[in-house]
Amino acid sequence: MASYERQCVICNKPFTATAARAKYCSVKCRAIGADKARKEWEANSNYKEKQRQKMRDRRSEEIAELKRIREEEWETREAKENKEYEARKKRERAEMKRKAKAGDREAKMYIAEEEGDLLEYWRLFKEDFLENENKSKYKVLYIVGGIDIYEDDFEYLVVEQIEKSGNYPSIIRKTEQKKNV
Ligand SMILES: [Zn+2]
Repeated sequence: MASYERQCVICNKPFTATAARAKYCSVKCRAIGADKARKEWEANSNYKEKQRQKMRDRRSEEIAELKRIREEEWETREAKENKEYEARKKRERAEMKRKAKAGDREAKMYIAEEEGDLLEYWRLFKEDFLENENKSKYKVLYIVGGIDIYEDDFEYLVVEQIEKSGNYPSIIRKTEQKKNV
């Protein structure tokens, strides 16, 4: 086996090595040398700063990922709720249409309101009122947005009033006196 006379790069002690490029005389000097080499390498390569940056990058990626997942979950939930709401509305509308066709006034009013047919809504409203009024023992005063429900053009006047003011009309209801039966 070949042997080489060398001087230890750590303690400067001469030693006989079996490899041409041996630098250390002992395990201890090799450990010291490895540590020194690593420190020099870290200093030269900016290793620790790069490590820290890598950690910071990973952390912000994780945070962004969490945020993305949360937003996705939120959007999914919202979409689901919207869908459920739409489905419920659709069922309700179908049911009301069926009832309206069968002549149910409340359902007709629901449909009229849904479709924005205010004239039909208030016409039905008056119809309903008059029907109940007929059955009542009392005379009832009923004013919608300043318009007496007994007016012939009641629904037209109410709609005009709503369009002018942009608001749902105020309602005044007063039981006046007992009717003479
Ligand atoms: Zn040595």
